[in-house]
Amino acid sequence: MPTPAERLNRICEEGLCIGCGLCQAVAGPDKIEVVVTPEGALRPLAGEALDHETVDLIYALCPGTHLEGLPAREDDESSIEDLVWGPHRSVAKAHAGDPEVRFLGAAGGVLTALAIHLLESGAVDFVLHAAPAKDMPSFGVRQISRSRTDVLAGAGSRYGPTATLIDIDTVLALGQPFAFIGTPCDITALRNLARHDLRVDALCRMMMTPVCGGFMETPALARKTESFGVPFDRLTALSYRGRGCPGPTRMERDDGLAVEKSYLDFWGEDDSAWSLPWRCKICADGIGEAADIAVSDVWPGGAPTREEAENHTLDPGSNGVVVRTARGQALFDAAVAAGALVQEADCSAEDMSLWQPHQVR
Ligand SMILES: Cc1cc2nc3c(=O)[nH]c(=O)nc-3n(C[C@H](O)[C@H](O)[C@H](O)COP(=O)(O)OP(=O)(O)OC[C@H]3O[C@@H](n4cnc5c(N)ncnc54)[C@H](O)[C@@H]3O)c2cc1C
Ligand code: SF4
Ligand code: SF4
Repeated sequence: MPTPAERLNRICEEGLCIGCGLCQAVAGPDKIEVVVTPEGALRPLAGEALDHETVDLIYALCPGTHLEGLPAREDDESSIEDLVWGPHRSVAKAHAGDPEVRFLGAAGGVLTALAIHLLESGAVDFVLHAAPAKDMPSFGVRQISRSRTDVLAGAGSRYGPTATLIDIDTVLALGQPFAFIGTPCDITALRNLARHDLRVDALCRMMMTPVCGGFMETPALARKTESFGVPFDRLTALSYRGRGCPGPTRMERDDGLAVEKSYLDFWGEDDSAWSLPWRCKICADGIGEAADIAVSDVWPGGAPTREEAENHTLDPGSNGVVVRTARGQALFDAAVAAGALVQEADCSAEDMSLWQPHQVR
């Protein structure tokens, strides 16, 4: 019979852990601590107090071991079923109504605009999402945003390890309505938790996600920054994208030097150059099937043109928006009516497939 620690470790050994942090939040740091490994990944470390009962619960909650998609109640006769894009109510091309939000957002700023709209309309007290980690510039860190300024500080994509749910128990204990933005695996983790903790559905008023092709593993990222003249141990800040669409990837060195590379120079011309965690390579849900709203880029073929990548204001930015639930649709419609979002076009799953060929593959 394997020990509790061996059973927990198996999740990592099978390449199923993405470092979301939920297991630490649920078990408590005396039983499980999510730590940075020598390879620069976030992984759970078993404490002496870990028992089989807790590991049973983690197997039910971990997005690497349990993935269900939308709760059945959200998927009714108004849902369109699509083999690739999953259940949804509508697809649109849209961008933030506020030019500053559109500019700072990773693409068209839709996630940031929706988060600000939820806060300013009083629908939620805060937004749980991610911001750059100050001590480890390539990582993300979970952020609680209670104002437009806070939300804007988290705008942009974090293409590095991010334990968004590391203290979700403390967040829920606040007893305040909130919105959540996380990767599709974070959304799955929160949906899993909702089946065990009634506070999730009582308090979490909206779950929103970027469509996700994975992030860069730390060793590969370190090789990249080094090749651009910024050794990883001298990296003090990293902005992956935003400030235009996609905007520059900006690396700052400890002596004040800032190096900017275009999205295509940083990531390569196509997805064959991506270096992903194993979990991302076998991801069963990069499209955010469990989210109320999933938001993507809209470059035909999945990448910006060389001109768009190098001229940071050539494309002001737009998003594909897949609305999956009734409450997601109500939010999208209200945000358009209030001017927080500008809807450019009604679209369909076919448009998503044109913009996201890697997800279709
Ligand atoms: C890891 C990753 C992979 C992606 N892969 C694809 C892809 O394959 N295809 C595609 O079309 N788009 C992909 N995107 C999404 C794209 O980069 C944009 O984030 C998305 O289109 C939303 O744009 P926006 O302008 O609305 O974002 P913004 O308005 O800038 O808002 C982004 C929000 O997401 C949150 N966030 C960012 N990174 C993380 C993270 N790692 N964990 C939790 N929350 C986070 C931020 O806190 C912010 O609230 C990916 C994003 C990420 C983070
Ligand atoms: S719950 Fe999250 S951090 Fe814990 S093992 Fe699963 S994926 Fe990894
Ligand atoms: S590709 Fe899948 S496993 Fe990887 S971060 Fe995105 S949703 Fe999570």
